Amino acid sequence: MKFGTKVIHAGIEPDPSTGAIMTPIFQTSTYVQAAPGDHKGYEYARTQNPTRHVLEQNIAALENGTDAICFASGLAAMDSVLKLLNPGDEVIATDDLYGGSYRIMMRVFAKYGIHFKFAGIGNIEELQKRITDKTRMIWVETPTNPMLNIIDIQAVCESVKGKNITVCVDNTFASPYLQNPLDLGADIVIHSATKYLGGHSDVIHGVVVTKTPAIAEQIRFLQNAVGAVPGPQDCFLILRGIKTLHIRVERACQNAEKIAHFLKHHPKVSKVYYPGFSDHPGHDTAKKQMKMFGGMLSFDLVANNEASARIVLSNTHYFSLAESLGGVESLIGHPASMTHGSIPREERLKVGLTDSLIRLSVGIEDVDDLIQDLDKALSLIP
Ligand SMILES: *Cc1c(COP(=O)(O)O)cnc(C)c1O
Repeated sequence: MKFGTKVIHAGIEPDPSTGAIMTPIFQTSTYVQAAPGDHKGYEYARTQNPTRHVLEQNIAALENGTDAICFASGLAAMDSVLKLLNPGDEVIATDDLYGGSYRIMMRVFAKYGIHFKFAGIGNIEELQKRITDKTRMIWVETPTNPMLNIIDIQAVCESVKGKNITVCVDNTFASPYLQNPLDLGADIVIHSATKYLGGHSDVIHGVVVTKTPAIAEQIRFLQNAVGAVPGPQDCFLILRGIKTLHIRVERACQNAEKIAHFLKHHPKVSKVYYPGFSDHPGHDTAKKQMKMFGGMLSFDLVANNEASARIVLSNTHYFSLAESLGGVESLIGHPASMTHGSIPREERLKVGLTDSLIRLSVGIEDVDDLIQDLDKALSLIP
């Protein structure tokens, strides 16, 4: 089955009791048994829910994984993956990380004795140098947020082969339409389904996809034992969003490319971070591992200060000032004070995340309107 067919059909059958073409929302907490232990595979809804089950089958197919296990949010999905570790274990993570990922690592798991190192793991020699006999997991985000660095997933996986190290890729920014890390050698993929998978900015949701049934079994145990499960209505909304994933992401990528070129030549803009540019350091890798270059980009201003960024952020009309990404509507954000506010300023500046950096999540509106909108806001900088 090809991708555009998978989003609509993989794991999805009409409801056997009614023929409903849409998967019903099974809004129930428990299931009646005919006699003790005599049931239809469903006992209690933290453990199993039919709406959630269909969604899990569908997402597993999109990422070419054995299983998908759904959670109440992207961070709940990440929490379950980090719980595979034991005290004393080490994790090496991308140094330019989603703020919430940094926070759960440093402020939640660090106190349970798990050690985190942050590195520019795009450089495989650098990565190799940091691996010790305690390293058990590599945590990769690519493209990174908000600097749009690209990490060669296949090279990372090959460099730790045979070492009892789990490679986990947060594939939220790319979506399964653009990139499938399990095919490149990763063991685990996570998504904040809140973003491109849901795609309509109306639900918080997360998912873990696994390369082997053995890893899936551990994550499924945690899904039930910890209980950070999504409700059936949220699963329905993600299923519904996924049906147009390929079309939405394709349009967002096309729009982002045009906007990136517009910004590159704008006199008020000093730098555009976009992996689709041939002079972007990760361009060749992006071309190799992604179908298109994504709907996200960041840019910095010639007037290198927060006040100028604030003028742009407060004066766009179609780009709404908001956290999040991956919806049909375009968003504009200020990483330093919003998504990455929990990362210390010195750490931020080290990776180029200045006070004037602006991030765009490009939606699927008419691109001419989007460009005009940005042009108008930029013209207001004195
Ligand atoms: C949003 C996001 C998360 C967290 O997901 P939630 O659904 O908000 O919990 C994790 N990683 C990345 C890259 C994200 O953009």
